[in-house]
Amino acid sequence: MKLPGDGHDHQDLSRSLWYASATEPNTAAPPLTGAVRTDVAIVGAGFTGLSAALHLAERGVNVRVLEAKEPGWGASGRNGGQVIAGLKYEPEYLEQHFGDAGARMAELSGGAPDFLFSLVRRFEIKCDPADSGWIQPATNSKNLATVTARARAWEKRGVKVTLLDKQKIGELIGTDFYVGGWIDPRGGSVQPLSLARGLARAAIQKGAQVHGHSPVISMIRDGKQWRLTTQNGGIVVADTVFLCTNAYTTNELWKGLAQSVIPVRAFQVATAPLTDNLRRTVFPHGFLASSDAKRMLTYTRVDRDGRIVMGGRGTFDHKAHPEIFGKLREDVQKRFFPQVGEPRWDYAWSGWIAMTADHLPHLNELAPGLYAGLGYNGRGVALACVMGKQLADRATEANAGKTGWPAANMKPLPFHAFRQPALRTIRSWWRFRDNLDKRLHG
Ligand SMILES: Cc1cc2nc3c(=O)[nH]c(=O)nc-3n(C[C@H](O)[C@H](O)[C@H](O)COP(=O)(O)OP(=O)(O)OC[C@H]3O[C@@H](n4cnc5c(N)ncnc54)[C@H](O)[C@@H]3O)c2cc1C
Repeated sequence: MKLPGDGHDHQDLSRSLWYASATEPNTAAPPLTGAVRTDVAIVGAGFTGLSAALHLAERGVNVRVLEAKEPGWGASGRNGGQVIAGLKYEPEYLEQHFGDAGARMAELSGGAPDFLFSLVRRFEIKCDPADSGWIQPATNSKNLATVTARARAWEKRGVKVTLLDKQKIGELIGTDFYVGGWIDPRGGSVQPLSLARGLARAAIQKGAQVHGHSPVISMIRDGKQWRLTTQNGGIVVADTVFLCTNAYTTNELWKGLAQSVIPVRAFQVATAPLTDNLRRTVFPHGFLASSDAKRMLTYTRVDRDGRIVMGGRGTFDHKAHPEIFGKLREDVQKRFFPQVGEPRWDYAWSGWIAMTADHLPHLNELAPGLYAGLGYNGRGVALACVMGKQLADRATEANAGKTGWPAANMKPLPFHAFRQPALRTIRSWWRFRDNLDKRLHG
């Protein structure tokens, strides 16, 4: 039997669940034609670029967004929709290693879900927001110690965390796969494509111009300004440019930027809506999203219509990988939710995540009037919205560099050209370590 993901281009956004279930309509974003001048040009209409455009437009700045496809086409419209607070590191670690800059990263990343949900409320974005909390489960006792330490670290900062034993987490998620975990009350979930479209709508309402189907093919310094040319012959001359292309960054616009991140392809599958009886057994208590703490992590949730959405298992190439979708479906049916039997599978799709060597998102000041925000390591739903505002602050507030997200010095990764074989080795190693942890500490 042919299943979603077999023999179609699952990098096509229109194959995703989110495309089918989006409640925010696709914003009119006409391609750029002719030559225009603007204060700020933004390349990429994902959460980073759209949040930046919205925050600039609210301040009366003249802004144009240039997107190769349509708003939300990249990772923003096709992710798991899990709204997650914080970074890979605990706040203390960030402060110890980066001092004041670390404290700012801890605070901004910890407050990211709140920032996102307040944007959603302020602009009445119809994206199924659920701010009921986010669960981080553990698959073995070693993992559990790590996530418990993380929960305690945030608790010390006033977050009302809840620690979960095997029985409690089993009740909340509806699986006996996990040994425990914690609830972060700051997190939750959204319908990601609706969020991206809603941000585009809000930015346009505030005066931004958003152009779809306008891939930027060159960018040159022209006196004190930047001159961007699109594939269809449009030209934008801007005082300031933000590159918000994340894992979809290529080499044409700024040498080295693409090499500062490692693109990893992530996969997702979704069932048909569960029957009412089954729905009462999967995330039955109002929490809708969880991502585990393994090196090769798995994330799962239910959507508005009661479908199970399962994601994980990365690759580094563009090939079709029907076997990966098969494994994700097997995870649902055999490992996590055997009670659902053999559900109908409606959707399978994939997209690109940008990882960084230091596991931190990067705000780069590349040249006078040229900034980039990228590298969310799979946690960009809330963080990229924060980063968009941080970029807007940089361009408009003299003091922003001292108070906001610290600028990174862009460092192209030395082994980038050889990343595919190297990363395949790392992935196998991570999988081996996850399995070993399970055997030793399971
Ligand atoms: C499958 C998957 C699951 C994920 N799950 C989660 C999750 O549950 N929670 C979470 O927090 N994060 C998750 N993430 C990560 C999150 O989606 C990203 O961090 C976030 O969306 C990045 O937003 P962005 O705006 O920076 O980039 P993107 O949304 O990728 O946008 C970049 C845009 O730039 C455009 N572009 C590129 N080059 C050009 C050019 N030359 N000219 C014009 N436009 C250009 C692209 O078309 C694209 O639309 C997931 C990612 C994926 C792929």
